[in-house]
Parts: sequence; structure tokens; C-alpha cells
Amino acid sequence: MKKIEMKNPVVEIDGDEMTRILWRLVKENLILPFVELKTDYYDLSIENRDRTQDAVTRGAAAAIRRYGVGVKCATITATAARQEEYHLSTLYPSPNGTIRALLDGTVFRKPICVSAVKPSVSSWKKPIIIARHAYGDVYKNAELAIPRAGRVELVWTPQDGGSEQRILVADMPGPGIAQGIHNLDNSIENFARCCFRLALDEKLPVLFAAKDTISKTYDGRFRMIFQSVYDAEFSAHGIDYSYTLIDDAVARIMKSDGGVIWACKNYDGDVMSDMVASAAGSLAMMTSVLVSPAGVYEFEAAHGTVQRHYYRWQRGEKTSTNPVALIFAWTGALAKRAALDGTTQLAAFAARLETAVLTTIEAGDMTADLAALANRAQRHILDSWQFIEAIAGRLAAEEGTS
Ligand code: NAP
Ligand code: MG
Repeated sequence: MKKIEMKNPVVEIDGDEMTRILWRLVKENLILPFVELKTDYYDLSIENRDRTQDAVTRGAAAAIRRYGVGVKCATITATAARQEEYHLSTLYPSPNGTIRALLDGTVFRKPICVSAVKPSVSSWKKPIIIARHAYGDVYKNAELAIPRAGRVELVWTPQDGGSEQRILVADMPGPGIAQGIHNLDNSIENFARCCFRLALDEKLPVLFAAKDTISKTYDGRFRMIFQSVYDAEFSAHGIDYSYTLIDDAVARIMKSDGGVIWACKNYDGDVMSDMVASAAGSLAMMTSVLVSPAGVYEFEAAHGTVQRHYYRWQRGEKTSTNPVALIFAWTGALAKRAALDGTTQLAAFAARLETAVLTTIEAGDMTADLAALANRAQRHILDSWQFIEAIAGRLAAEEGTS
């Protein structure tokens, strides 16, 4: 069988612990036999980040910017406990944080739906993708504990020496609390652009919601910017956009059949992404894609390195760790690469691999986390090795006939 050719590489970012074990297993059994894989490889294992003083992380981000598409394994975020475990020289920041900051991107989380696992919201038939704005608001706030009666004001002092503006927050009759938050037009614009770009790729409508009836200036600005980015850059491309109040959005989402990109302000996204993830079943069935306003993409699983399973694997156990989100990170990256390069065979392969994963699960072959959620009598709990082998078998049979 002739392997599928690639025009340009994807940036491959290796990681830690159980996901590093699965990464190799996925590549060797589900990709390398079928694709003449071209990657620009970065080893972001915690040892190598320490060895290179984290230069490898910055290098990986630069490579994603250069090639346009990356796929990332889960990585350990250093903590004091990890410093001791891995004898680290210092606590480098979270690689995801570093890469996100360098690419100025938005993270979208998308559940992988299988009919064997019903979401806890029965009307949800299609994925709900949560887009969370990752700048400002309460996450970059200034807070003040007010000890006794007094006046709280908001003051803006222009950098160019113009006259200052000052408004009353409250004349406080006694002790209490006060808070100042901000956001930037540029950041909101980039957020809107990333949402609409993903909407074009996924052929899904965008819903943005805030509370502009109450917050006329602050949330009103978010609403205005979303509308103007849509009108100027995306309305002609056939994607749907609607704005609604956040409480109405929540009510509508609970009754919808899904199939929407729900753009959320920072705090709403923090809350709603956990709600959607939990209702969808399992972290192991959730992918995550970082989209930068410049149009570069990084695909990964939403879960971490599955540390507890790794310790069991080190003791010689074959764990039943679910590789689905990692496989979908690879298919997402290969499909994006194919779309950018115009390589239809590669696009078709990514789709076939996804189908092979889903039909394997639908046939009742799954890892333990899914078996615990699946509402069907017929299910075989497989370890990761057997599960990947079952997928590979289906894929090879299909590839033989394609
Ligand atoms: P985790 O790796 O997501 O795992 C938490 C628990 O969720 C696991 O112990 C397991 O539960 C279940 N789980 C997660 N993924 C699974 C899978 N694929 N298959 C089966 N079960 C799965 O989170 P963590 O243990 O809190 O974090 C471990 C390390 O990951 C940390 O060092 C953290 O810094 C890092 N992390 C990295 C990323 C990233 O790179 N994107 C994200 C989050 C965390 P059971 O043990 O009950 O089976
Ligand atoms: Mg949260």
C-alpha cells in the first residue's frame, strides 16, 4: 500500500507521562503505517524543558507560527512537588500559557460525541464548542477592601497629558469591597476574529452573549466589536452570527440540539466550559484547539498527562487510558494541514481515522472511562493497547478498500 504524501510538516510537540506513552502508540499504529509523516519535532518533556531552560517551548511556538499547524501532547506544569520529583532547576511556567501568550490565541474546547455515551442534557445531539476570551475582566482586576465610609471613584489619566476623567463608583456609607476591571478593544477584536475563523472551518454558527442591558458601556463595547468584525470581515462568507443576553443564551443552549460555537467573556467561559465538559461525559472525549488571529492552529487533548495511570504503567500495568482526544488532536492537525496545502488524500485519511475511532466505540470496544458512562449492554473494556489495535484493524481494513 502506498503511503499518503504530505506537502508541509506539522509541528509535533511531545509531552509527559501517560500521554507521552500513548502519543507514541498512536503515531506508530494509526498514522505512520498510512502517512509519509512530515513533522518538525519538539520534545517538551519536563526534563528537556529544564535542560534547555524552556527555550524548546518558545521554539515550538515559533515553529507553529512558521508552519501554521501544530499538534501537542499534554505536558506537566511544574510545581514544587514536580520540582522534587524531576529534580528541576527552576519552576518554568505552564507551556500552554507560554505558547498561548506567544501566539496570542483563543482556546476552543470541543467534545467528541459518540452515541454510546449520551450527554446528560438529552437535547444535545451535536457538539457545543465553547470559546473563552482569555484576557482581562475579573482575571486582571484590582480589588480594594474598604475599611470604613468613603468615596470610591474610577479615574482615567491619559498618557498624552490630556485632562483626566473621573466617575463615582459609590459613596460608601460603611465598610465593604470595590473592584476595577478592564479590557482592550484589540484583544476583543482578535477574540471575535478567532471565533469567526473557527466558524468558517467548522461551518457552525457563532453565538455571543453578554449583559449589555446592564453594562451598557463595558459589555456594550464587546457586543459592538463582535458585530463590526463580523460585518467587515465575515458576513460575506456565509456564516451565521447572533448576539443575545447571557441569561437568554444559557436558557437557549439547554434546550438546543448543539452545533454552535458559543463565544463567552472570560468568566462566562470559565464557568460554561466546565458545565459543557461535564455534561458531555469525559475529559478524555474533549479536544482543544488554539486559534491565533494570524490564522495558525495548535491542536491538543483537553486533559492532562494522566499522572495516576502513568505510575500504574511504570509498575508494569497495562492501563485503560483513553487515547481518543489525543487521536483527534492528530486528525485535527492533519485535516488542517490538508486544508491549507490542498491535499485531499490527507484530508480523507484524517476523516477515515476519526470514523474508525467512532465505529470502534459504537461497536462496544472502549476504554474503562467510557464503559462506565456507556448506556449499552454490549461493551468490552479494553486497555489502551488493545483499543488502539482495534482501531488500527478497522482503519487498515478500510484503507485496503479505499
Ligand atoms: P489529568 O491528567 O487530566 O487527569 C485527571 C484524571 O482524569 C485522571 O487521573 C483520570 O481519572 C481522568 N483522565 C484524564 N484523562 C484521561 C484519559 N485520557 N483516559 C482516562 N482517564 C482520564 O489531570 P491531573 O492528573 O490533574 O494532571 C496531571 C498533569 O497534567 C499535571 O502535571 C498537570 O500540570 C498536567 N496538565 C496538563 C495539561 C495540558 O498539557 N494541556 C492540562 C491539564 C493538566 P482516574 O485516575 O480516576 O482514572
Ligand atoms: Mg473553569
